[in-house]
Amino acid sequence: MTTESHGFTTRAVHAGDEANHSRAVATPIYQTATFAFESAGEGADMFSGRAPGHVYTRWSNPNVAELDAKIAALEGADDAISAASGMAAVSTVLLAALHAGDHCLVDSGCYSATNTLFTQELPRLGITADFLDTGDLDAVEAALRPNTRLIYTETPGNPTLKIVDLAALAGFARARAILTVCDNTFASPYLQRPIELGIDAVVHSATKYLGGHGDAIAGVAAGPAGLMARCRTRVLRDFGGVMSPMTAFLINRGIPTLALRMERHCDNAERVAAFLASHPAVAWVSYPGLPDHPRHAVAARQMRRFGGMIAFEVRGGVPAGAAVMNAVRLCTLAVSLGDVRTLIAHPASMTHSTVSSDARERAGITDGLIRLSVGIEDADDLIEDLDQALRGS
Ligand code: PLP
Repeated sequence: MTTESHGFTTRAVHAGDEANHSRAVATPIYQTATFAFESAGEGADMFSGRAPGHVYTRWSNPNVAELDAKIAALEGADDAISAASGMAAVSTVLLAALHAGDHCLVDSGCYSATNTLFTQELPRLGITADFLDTGDLDAVEAALRPNTRLIYTETPGNPTLKIVDLAALAGFARARAILTVCDNTFASPYLQRPIELGIDAVVHSATKYLGGHGDAIAGVAAGPAGLMARCRTRVLRDFGGVMSPMTAFLINRGIPTLALRMERHCDNAERVAAFLASHPAVAWVSYPGLPDHPRHAVAARQMRRFGGMIAFEVRGGVPAGAAVMNAVRLCTLAVSLGDVRTLIAHPASMTHSTVSSDARERAGITDGLIRLSVGIEDADDLIEDLDQALRGS
């Protein structure tokens, strides 16, 4: 049992321990669809909520309950929920919070599937959205409508590494009774805790830093008790996008080392960003830790360190960038991020190819942008690999 006074890593290791009802120290994988009742009366009591307990894994499961408790403890939230993927977590929160007729303001720098959810899927349910820089409160004020119910942001943004001032956005929205949701995937709760800055709810692709090892697709969300209860008892149960016990086990196994991994990701990314920024073959680098990042001061205020993600562009545009991606030997040419391995990808032709070229341009996703998820290998080896690839570009 942990409390708010325990340190981050103590909470990462022990929060959720009470979900383990066995004597095994590592929580077993409760790989079961359903749970036996002692009696018909107990079944009725558990189904109605009069008695606690697991009845069916689409409703709840010990491995998932352990993860929910860990995420709530790490994000400083009332409660948390787990879902089958990051996008399942995002859509669960949005379906729980929004109704037909609602309007949303969404950061134009959001992850591509979030963008298409707001532009193509939610409008079919009567929910509309406008896209802007949620770090520009004058623009947000100008875009407000009487039915604006939710502001959705992501910081650092994927893949540009744009930063949004969360305390300022939260203060603005609270004063107008508008719900705020922040995608905290790029930072992880170790580096940034939006709820402590006043944001209402947080979503994550737990596929990334929370899991940390690139071996599971998973999502989590954290926030106020009422919203999380609606996510859990309505949307997850009825739409069914729940997390499996095996996936919850893997994410629970990743989280205890989150702080250690993030420190190493940050150490390596700081060195790689400085190397890229000084390389003659590189046109520009976007890393929140570099003093020339346009919102470096905001990042320094709201993040513990600057994270493991870097965006950069090679001189010579798309062909030169493609040559670098084809020439790396240690970095892996693959989408996703937050893995112990360093991953290199080209958003315009890969992750963000589903976003229109106009919207990409508005979000600052140039055709030549290369996204680097810096892993936990030895920094010298990563720099040597990038250097040999850049020399051939
Ligand atoms: N949010 C961000 C910032 C992401 O980068 C991603 C995936 O890359 C998602 C959400 C969606 O997560 P998932 O792929 O686990 O559904």
